[in-house]
Amino acid sequence: MQSKRVAIIGAGPGGFYAALELLKHFSGQIDIIDRLPTPFGLVRYGIAPDNQRMKSVSKVFSGLIDQFDNLRFIGNVDFGSDLHRDDLLRHYDAIIYATGAAGRQYLRVPGEDLAGSFSAMDFVDWYNGHPLRRISDFSMAFSKAAVVGGGNVALDVVRMLINEMDVVRSTDVPDRVLRELERNAVREVYLLVRKGPAQVKFTPVELRGLVNLKNVDIVIDPEDLKLTQDESDYVDADQQCRLNMNILKTIAERPQAGYEKKIHVKFWRSVASIGGNGSVEWLDLRSNKAPSDASPSAGSGNSPCRVSVDAIFSAIGNVVGAVSGVPFDERRSIVPNIDGQITGKDGVVLPNEFVTGWAKRGPSGTVGTNRQDSAETVATLLKSWASSGDGPDAASTKADITEILRERNIKFTTWNDWMSIDDKELSAGRAQNRPRVKFQSLDDMMDCLD
Ligand SMILES: Cc1cc2nc3c(=O)[nH]c(=O)nc-3n(C[C@H](O)[C@H](O)[C@H](O)COP(=O)(O)OP(=O)(O)OC[C@H]3O[C@@H](n4cnc5c(N)ncnc54)[C@H](O)[C@@H]3O)c2cc1C
Repeated sequence: MQSKRVAIIGAGPGGFYAALELLKHFSGQIDIIDRLPTPFGLVRYGIAPDNQRMKSVSKVFSGLIDQFDNLRFIGNVDFGSDLHRDDLLRHYDAIIYATGAAGRQYLRVPGEDLAGSFSAMDFVDWYNGHPLRRISDFSMAFSKAAVVGGGNVALDVVRMLINEMDVVRSTDVPDRVLRELERNAVREVYLLVRKGPAQVKFTPVELRGLVNLKNVDIVIDPEDLKLTQDESDYVDADQQCRLNMNILKTIAERPQAGYEKKIHVKFWRSVASIGGNGSVEWLDLRSNKAPSDASPSAGSGNSPCRVSVDAIFSAIGNVVGAVSGVPFDERRSIVPNIDGQITGKDGVVLPNEFVTGWAKRGPSGTVGTNRQDSAETVATLLKSWASSGDGPDAASTKADITEILRERNIKFTTWNDWMSIDDKELSAGRAQNRPRVKFQSLDDMMDCLD
């Protein structure tokens, strides 16, 4: 008797945590399918290279494949072009979409199209060596940059812009990225946060990462840290905000050491426009505080404050894009679902289709948040099987998906292929005394398998 088959589309934390939950209750075939030849989604291609401790969560996911024979990785298969929803419905008893949120958000201000204005995610893709990145040759030919955003991605980008080369050299960035970062002449970075210190989404660990940067002065105007009574009550009641405030106050009170490299953290500032002749030369900033609260340097009312920079990175969040042929809620920008089960236009749940991770809830939370999220989705899937009188051990007539992949000449990668890529990257890393050296392109990766 052939057991049921489940497809998980997306091999990031959402997909792997869904597999982990499912394996507790299900002994049928689980295939994790990804458009990239390699697993782990943003753990490999989002989390900053100087945060190898966080990236090591991939070991938990690898352990699953090593431990369970019924879990397979099928890479280099794009859902939407190589495989379609109909194919999946024909070959699987249930599908869990875990495709993340790779879309960019833009500032939508005049001058955003000038050379030197980037989405932070383009920079992230580049320094992490994402093989489908939009900007393949990023040039570090700037000395003053602004990073716009109040979350951890903004902090990652600030660190990657201003980190000591000794730190960068001890990461897994591809060689080409390392060579370009060697030319890095960034001396000043403005971190521009739209809201105040009580509202930021930084996690204290990441904020401490900023404080721990060597040979960099961090400048915060103590006026920016003054809270209203409501904000103060909110901060007192929330541990994360309290820790953040303590760190920010410590920075603001710390005497400047006079380093050449500086980070200016500015709260309550939005970019009104980006100016320059052909490339970014300055930003006009607007204060988001009521005029009576704004300090003279904030740029309030009709008198925006101008800062000169030669690059700007907007780190204002990712967006979930529509997944080919799968229902999509344009207003909420997520795959519509009830506790993880996808709903159609009429709000009625689809019998065998589920969603997890960022595609389900939008781009929020940490890697660990996806574990609870996937647990909910898998519980819903098991409940739906149980209510149709058809438990996880029921027989299935579905055929193996690799048959159509072969028929269509799709050169998919297996877990052994990933092991081989991994092995080559690790040994290139050992030769340079680095954790690994990533392959720079899809072709390099696929060629090494021939
Ligand atoms: C820059 C950045 C830094 C971060 N740093 C941290 C950190 O330090 N600590 C932390 O806890 N969290 C961090 N996060 C958050 C964390 O990465 C996310 O919570 C997590 O990756 C979301 O998991 P996911 O599986 O939903 O999406 P993803 O990790 O994006 O995985 C989605 C997967 O789906 C695949 N996919 C997409 N579309 C298709 C398709 N059509 N066909 C086949 N496959 C497809 C993708 O290739 C990808 O592998 C960071 C996020 C970003 C953006």
